[in-house]
Amino acid sequence: MANDKLYRTEAIVIRRRNMGEADKILTVYTPNKGKLNLVAKGVRRTTSRMGGHLELFMQCNLMVAKGRSLDLITQSETVSAFPNLRNNLGLIAYTWQGVELLDRLTEEDLENYPVFTLLSEFLGALEVGHDPIIISRAYELHLLGYLGYRPQLIRCVRCNEEIQPVINFFSPEMGGVLCPACGKIERRSIEVSIDAMKILRYLQKTTFATGPRLLLKPELRNELEHIMRSYTRYLLERDLKSAEFVHNVTS
Ligand SMILES: [Zn+2]
Repeated sequence: MANDKLYRTEAIVIRRRNMGEADKILTVYTPNKGKLNLVAKGVRRTTSRMGGHLELFMQCNLMVAKGRSLDLITQSETVSAFPNLRNNLGLIAYTWQGVELLDRLTEEDLENYPVFTLLSEFLGALEVGHDPIIISRAYELHLLGYLGYRPQLIRCVRCNEEIQPVINFFSPEMGGVLCPACGKIERRSIEVSIDAMKILRYLQKTTFATGPRLLLKPELRNELEHIMRSYTRYLLERDLKSAEFVHNVTS
């Protein structure tokens, strides 16, 4: 096999599904090729030497052979297995949520190096036991920024006035914060407390790896979750609508 048919890449496994009797298709996120779907032959056999390196959420080094439709993993070795994370159901849930958001918002074969680094740091932070709720919010804010959906938190997205330290609003549709006057007009906006606003801004501007070490009250954690959930739900629904639209137009 000629060398241009083979490539080496680091990868994080973000989704796995069965194919045939013993194979799997793995969706992985890579530093230089973004998201890829790759075939792992025979990994469901107990004798497979590769199987243990290709579990969900593992970071690994892969050797890949180009195929006619899907590329094929020929060798793999583990870089980080994240054992604490993968043995804790609560952490698996947070990981899954973060990974699914990335999966739903990204296209295949589109390089985005900062997203790979962020994903690796997200898993690492959960692995060493940082607060998964804060880590998840910081991850979401950075991920949305890298993918072109950075929430505007400094000026009102409707009238462009600078946001003051009072109760403001967040508009999922407009992708940012609204001043009190505009928030009252936009019916589907959500109230944002002064503290929630401060934390969102702090998480958005701090480096992901060093920033998220805060102690927050449960109400504030819930409020932050509600704001980010409303925004990501809006983005994903719009994604689905556009997919349906494209399907209707092209079929
Ligand atoms: Zn305004």
